[in-house]
Amino acid sequence: MKKNSFLSAKVMLVAALLSLNTVIYAQKSIDPPAISEKILSGILEKNRAYYTQGKVADYIPELGKMDAKAIAFSLVDKNGKVFNTGDVHKKFTMQSISKIIALMLAVNERGEADVFDKIGYFGSDKPFNHFSNLETTGKPLNPMMNAGAILTTSLIAGDGEKPFLKILDMVRYITKNKTIDYNKSVYESEKSTGNRNRGMFYLMKNNGLISGNEDQLDNYFKQCSIELTAEDLAKIGYFFANQCVRFDGDATHKNKEIAKLIESQMLTAGMYEFSGEYSRNVGLPSKSGVGGGITVSVPGKMGIGVFSPALDQHGNSLAGYHMILDLVKQYDLSVF
Ligand code: GLU
Repeated sequence: MKKNSFLSAKVMLVAALLSLNTVIYAQKSIDPPAISEKILSGILEKNRAYYTQGKVADYIPELGKMDAKAIAFSLVDKNGKVFNTGDVHKKFTMQSISKIIALMLAVNERGEADVFDKIGYFGSDKPFNHFSNLETTGKPLNPMMNAGAILTTSLIAGDGEKPFLKILDMVRYITKNKTIDYNKSVYESEKSTGNRNRGMFYLMKNNGLISGNEDQLDNYFKQCSIELTAEDLAKIGYFFANQCVRFDGDATHKNKEIAKLIESQMLTAGMYEFSGEYSRNVGLPSKSGVGGGITVSVPGKMGIGVFSPALDQHGNSLAGYHMILDLVKQYDLSVF
């Protein structure tokens, strides 16, 4: 009995010290320990078990085969230094995270005014594959939900597969990883089951927003099937956090305005209908994909990439979200 109460007193003391630490860091009176793989792996271990409360996406059979226990946490710091922990080599499909790359390319080519003449800047309380405004105003709510993203990809110039290849090339450039490719069986699965997306495509064609053929929809399915790692996601987060400068300092695509636009879209709608609550809790531009990845930009500073395929009811990685939340609290990273 005595031993038990001694133990619980000890647990309470540790808990109190931990929350005191958070308060102190938050007040910035003491700097938190420098980021290291050890810090990341501590956060990962603390949140690993969240996968048991989530569900791996199974809207297509290929995704349902993912190992629910896989987990990875990566970070690229201000100086471009990479930190990795967990299943660092595990590849997964980027899914909706590809939407920010497509948006960058469409706006680069056509200008923001032209693209946003066809798509809104709205947030949403509806899921990623909702038809949202298509039947009322005719325009998709934003470029982060499927409808807007399908339209965005159709606005990238080029016949056939060309727009997809531009997206793939940009992902390879940002991550400096030429081995990145798309997963053919996920793509086939997306294509053969993607009738809801096909419905949106044809509704937008009917509304005069899309002028091409189904190759354009195929490009969207392919971009969703691009496979990468949590480290690649951290590098994408870094890129948009740092005015489209790559983690190694390469400034070929440096563009402050595009980075601001992408980050604002990530903050408004990047976490599906959870975006508002996520902004309150995390306060960082982030984009999630149903493959279990989340890419996060800490503006002017670093990029974070997480992976754990078990999702919450909104389609966001559950363990991924909690790892981000803990890191953000410990290092006071919210922009607010
Ligand atoms: N391929 C998925 C779809 O179009 C992407 C969904 C997501 O990651 O949000 O339905």
